[in-house]
Amino acid sequence: MRHLEREELVKLLNKPVFHHISEVADELDMEAYVVGGYVRDLFLERPSKDIDVVVVGSGITVAEALCKRLGRGAHLSVFRNFGTAQVHWHGEEVEFVGARRESYSHDSRKPIVEDGTLEDDQRRRDFTINALAICLNKARFGELLDPFEGVWDMEDRLIATPLDPDITFSDDPLRMMRCIRFATQLNFEIEAETFEALSRNRERIKIISQERIIDELQKIMASDSPSRGWELLFQCGLLEIIFPELQAMQGVETRNGRAHKDNFWHTLEVLSNVVRTQREQRNDNYLWLRWAALLHDIGKPRSKRWDPQLGWTFHNHNFVGEKMVPQIFRRMKLPMDERMKYVQKLVGLHMRPIVIADEEVTDSAVRRLLFEAGDDIDDLMQLCEADITSRNEQRKQRFLDNFRLVREKLVDLEERDRIRNFQPPVSGEEIMERFNLPPCKEVGTLKTAVKDAILDGIIPNEHDAALQFVIEKAKRMGLSAE
Ligand code: ATP
Ligand code: MG
Repeated sequence: MRHLEREELVKLLNKPVFHHISEVADELDMEAYVVGGYVRDLFLERPSKDIDVVVVGSGITVAEALCKRLGRGAHLSVFRNFGTAQVHWHGEEVEFVGARRESYSHDSRKPIVEDGTLEDDQRRRDFTINALAICLNKARFGELLDPFEGVWDMEDRLIATPLDPDITFSDDPLRMMRCIRFATQLNFEIEAETFEALSRNRERIKIISQERIIDELQKIMASDSPSRGWELLFQCGLLEIIFPELQAMQGVETRNGRAHKDNFWHTLEVLSNVVRTQREQRNDNYLWLRWAALLHDIGKPRSKRWDPQLGWTFHNHNFVGEKMVPQIFRRMKLPMDERMKYVQKLVGLHMRPIVIADEEVTDSAVRRLLFEAGDDIDDLMQLCEADITSRNEQRKQRFLDNFRLVREKLVDLEERDRIRNFQPPVSGEEIMERFNLPPCKEVGTLKTAVKDAILDGIIPNEHDAALQFVIEKAKRMGLSAE
């Protein structure tokens, strides 16, 4: 955070678009201010995005006049219902709105809106750091208006509401999600009273649409420390409402002196580990790998059993979790496409590398793993390494050493056998033709037998060897070749 005097703000706003707005506002004799996230990000030295301008008077009138002044190359969109207008010009996007005062009723986040002063407009904003305004009119260009001391909160790295937080959150409960999102993105603390109000008002989140909630969750997930966001959601009690399956992972049960680990905190550690490894390498799936980390053990609460001999077990939790992924994606309004399939696949397979690494690392087991994971094998390995959160250094080292062995074998086998995008060298059609069969069970049996033989290393991944194998197997099944 930097402290900016007026001269510095003048310099930072030295862009043609601000000067044009300045002149247009002066001509119309209306006050215009740049507000909100753009101003905040100037102080925080973050890349600034869209520009929001508040006009004391009509935002639409200023936007129209600006567009006329800029001439060709400027594009205007007016939203009369909302009293707003957007101007696009040379890659700049400026949104204009009239200063407004808002009052809310209990059952909706749609306020009654009236014209207001600049300060009314600042008061209706969610957080003090989002309530700063800088004047654009020529005589006062660069003057900062910060009635709620947002600059001090930035200095102290605090998220606080300009008004009584119970009112701010109850009026528009989406602000509770934004509160945690900003705390996570900016790595700020939530001011104590504001945090208490999150807990008190948490039930109000139920009037917010899932689309809005998931938007904020995705911003939390894409940030540098998503685990902190989930931790805050847990602490204020919102998690229970918006993501009960994740909440259910929290807690430790002890029986006969045996306790299992707390799967919620373990999950957040795995998510943090994944984020850390993504600093070095990050592909297009990076956000979804994070979701896979968050969901990898989601089946544990439902598969937890007490076994007098073994203690706590979570048998098949990966398969239970795999089944839960589409349900969770659907309810959360996450995409039900190949991204969901990817998460589902990783959740289903996440125990495999560790089982291999726990026993002897055989060619056959690694080939099967490669066959099932396909192109997602590297992401799966990344997830599984992140999953080793043991405090026992020796145990941890043993797993990491074995994982290195698995990785070496993966490279080796891929070169030799090209299993990754495995297509069986003898097709179903060829089998049907050679044995004069209609589509039937026997064809499937033969195909599976060839696949298994290749994955087990009994025959090489080549057409002639595979065909020979099919002929012999068919003979044993009592089928004759044409
Ligand atoms: P970013 O664009 O980086 O997510 P931002 O602060 O610019 O952050 P926007 O959603 O673009 O967020 O909103 C712009 C400004 O509008 C905010 O800075 C804030 O002043 C105000 N604002 C947005 N949403 C709300 C809300 N739900 N309640 C009150 N004020 C809001
Ligand atoms: Mg913005």
